[in-house]
Amino acid sequence: MSGKNYDVVIVGAGIVGAACADEGARRGLRIAVVDREAISSGATAAAMGHIVVMDDSEAQFALTRYSQQLWRQLRPDLPDDVEYEECGTIWVAADEEEMVEVRRKHDYYGSRGVPTQVLDPQALQRLEPNLRGGLAGGLLVPEDGVLYPPCAARFLIERAQQGGAKLYFGCPVSRIGHEYVGLADGSKLSAGIIVNASGACAPDLTPGLAIKKRKGHLVITDRYPGFIRHQLVELGYLKSAHALASDSVAFNVQPRRTGQVLIGSSRQYGAEHSEVDSNILSRMLQRAQEYMPALGAMSALRTWTGFRAATPDKLPFIGPWPGDTSLFMATGHEGLGITTSLGTARILLDQITGTKSEIPIEAYLPSRLAAEHVHA
Ligand SMILES: Cc1cc2nc3c(=O)[nH]c(=O)nc-3n(C[C@H](O)[C@H](O)[C@H](O)COP(=O)(O)OP(=O)(O)OC[C@H]3O[C@@H](n4cnc5c(N)ncnc54)[C@H](O)[C@@H]3O)c2cc1C
Repeated sequence: MSGKNYDVVIVGAGIVGAACADEGARRGLRIAVVDREAISSGATAAAMGHIVVMDDSEAQFALTRYSQQLWRQLRPDLPDDVEYEECGTIWVAADEEEMVEVRRKHDYYGSRGVPTQVLDPQALQRLEPNLRGGLAGGLLVPEDGVLYPPCAARFLIERAQQGGAKLYFGCPVSRIGHEYVGLADGSKLSAGIIVNASGACAPDLTPGLAIKKRKGHLVITDRYPGFIRHQLVELGYLKSAHALASDSVAFNVQPRRTGQVLIGSSRQYGAEHSEVDSNILSRMLQRAQEYMPALGAMSALRTWTGFRAATPDKLPFIGPWPGDTSLFMATGHEGLGITTSLGTARILLDQITGTKSEIPIEAYLPSRLAAEHVHA
């Protein structure tokens, strides 16, 4: 493995690396994807697969909305096992204070062309009869969806392969940059562009990259068809996602096509091991039952954890790494990488091929947070 074999070598075959490989191959570039294991060996296999528009910031909104629309366009090509369902999200409001947030979100989304519907308590109960009584209402975002992330990543990788991409699986990478990828066995791949898409492990290959691991737990139940119909998320989820220091849990449940219910979610910094933490798990399930008491009578089949790649400003790193013109980042997607993988791939390949992007890209450039490192 030597000589300049590829235009682009992508390190990481999670959903982000897979989407970048697909986009690169579709643009006619010679692509290689390298992973120490195989497709979806990191957060992608652990994720919920909620395709969701979020509005923490204009930049977050732009990337999530752009990506949600790209998923909707891709839908006719997705194989059945990707289980894409446009079930919509309901943001559940527990009280009047949260209804203020419902109305703010409704105005924000509406003014940017995203259809939403404000639900009063009766409408909420009609749509989701297993929610407890006494809730204040909610916001329905009907164009949000769900999918099964490992199969979505596999679809993208296979399409990239059909477009000529080469896969190097079972190949741990130990060094990247300056037009080459060094593998742990001492061999090298060379390319004009190297993309670090190794998720929460990205700082191991690019020291100075401001990413912290943020652990999450999920539980999947046995089959209870029709128990819920939408992705249901408490508005307090936003407080949980924003909490910087403490562990947090929030009610976040998803209907799977199989009739199973996927129950989340938790967020923890500083937890580096993948074991299930029984304390945080019971807090998470208790929170879920506060909103849906009948969940308590269900059988859980499996519990697992995964690591989100969290950045200080909650936006991913998409673009060149300062100081090395051959090195690009596509990482730091925290809890939104399934959603934003397709938009990330477009923006990244736009930069690599010198094409103007359909949304502004400045907010995602790694240089915004790399300045201290570069000048240190
Ligand atoms: C509990 C949980 C729930 C989530 N729910 C959602 C959701 O509902 N919606 C949503 O949009 N997002 C969700 N996310 C976030 C989403 O899972 C991630 O943002 C996304 O999967 C990141 O994909 P990635 O390709 O960047 O990284 P990963 O999927 O982590 O892939 C990185 C790959 O790099 C490889 N790698 C790492 N280091 C090396 C190395 N040195 N050499 C070679 N290969 C290497 C790994 O083997 C891995 O395959 C969730 C995350 C968690 C943890």
